[in-house]
Amino acid sequence: MNDQWEVVSGHVSIRDGMIAAISERDIVEPHDRTIDAHEDYVLPGLIQTHLHLCQTLFRGYADDLPLMDWLRTRIWLMEAAHTPASLRAATRLATTELLMTGTTSILTMETVHDTDAVFEAAAESGIRATIGKCMMDAPADGTPARLRERFQTSIDESRGLLKRWNGAAGGRLRAAFAPRFAVSCSRALLEAVADLSADTQTLVHTHASESREEVAIVRALSGLSNVEYLAALRLASPRLCAAHCVWVGDREQGLLAEHDVKVMHCPGSNLKLGSGLAPVTELRRRGVTVSLGADGAACNNRLDMFEEMRLAALLQATRVSPGALTARDALTMATRDGARTLGMDGELGSIEAGKRADIIVVDRSRLQMAPDHDPYSTLVYAARGSDVRTTIVGGDVLVDEFVPTQVDAHEVAAFARLEAKALADRAGL
Ligand SMILES: [Zn+2]
Repeated sequence: MNDQWEVVSGHVSIRDGMIAAISERDIVEPHDRTIDAHEDYVLPGLIQTHLHLCQTLFRGYADDLPLMDWLRTRIWLMEAAHTPASLRAATRLATTELLMTGTTSILTMETVHDTDAVFEAAAESGIRATIGKCMMDAPADGTPARLRERFQTSIDESRGLLKRWNGAAGGRLRAAFAPRFAVSCSRALLEAVADLSADTQTLVHTHASESREEVAIVRALSGLSNVEYLAALRLASPRLCAAHCVWVGDREQGLLAEHDVKVMHCPGSNLKLGSGLAPVTELRRRGVTVSLGADGAACNNRLDMFEEMRLAALLQATRVSPGALTARDALTMATRDGARTLGMDGELGSIEAGKRADIIVVDRSRLQMAPDHDPYSTLVYAARGSDVRTTIVGGDVLVDEFVPTQVDAHEVAAFARLEAKALADRAGL
């Protein structure tokens, strides 16, 4: 996935967590370990730029609803019922699934409280993560009392997380500001986040123009379209990461391009919540960086990036025409454009000497891979997350021969089941 799109047969050498060399000849220096991948695909680790790890325990509890009902009758009630223990269970379940299906880096928005528990569990998992505590200080309809924050508490807690966690775990963890969406934040909070982001060069992770109902609420409260409103509050910048952008017209698309706002496309979530089909082809044509995410287990219900790559291409085939978003485009969105969204394109997104050693190995012997005429086609249209054999983050082998090395996957699932049941009881669902 380098600038020349080279597909090479050879060796990748890793030293001190970095890619030290790529060679088509045998590497003669001694190595502590050699992984034989000569019949497989070796890829840069996949980068999911819109997730909610805390919602992984809600899988199956919130199906078949449109966005605002989904939030009001399920998600907010369940988020309000989270404890540090249930957040740890959700994070461990999510990171195990993500690593086993080839995702090595994530941008995630958590809930209002106890985000330290998510950072702690993410640190233990070995995944590379940019994590934000959800900020919501406006009394939007149907918000449970526990999720309503005061302006200053929201700012102080977000700044505290930034201080405690940004750069932690050997630089694997970073903090972001995460105002949930315009509907649940005061104008003052959004303006304060814009200033803090500029001062500290920190990413802002939010949702924008996901459903028509949300767009109508934002217009009623601001008189503007969603992206115009964010731009009026000085939030539009290369550090703004806006999930969805399904309902963005010509003027809003122009604003996104002009300010280099990053857009995160979540095709599986958009389909399941019935939100609509995002104008990804048009956004990319304007030069907007569009990356991919599964969103969450409560609206997907998988966290498998291979599924999102495939859906992203298929949706544009139906919206525009076959080939509007090719398999190679989809793989670029899942790697290079994900790295660009994180502001880490010098470090992640391709297998090149000097970049971080975030690498996955995809088993090429699976039946659905044959005859494997074109690698992009095979990886995007035919492969599945379960075909990932090895996952390496910063040189650490976290999945080895399909098995996670840091946790017992059965134990993770069993603990998640117990915590989900208790959480649903607390939420009254
Ligand atoms: Zn989301």
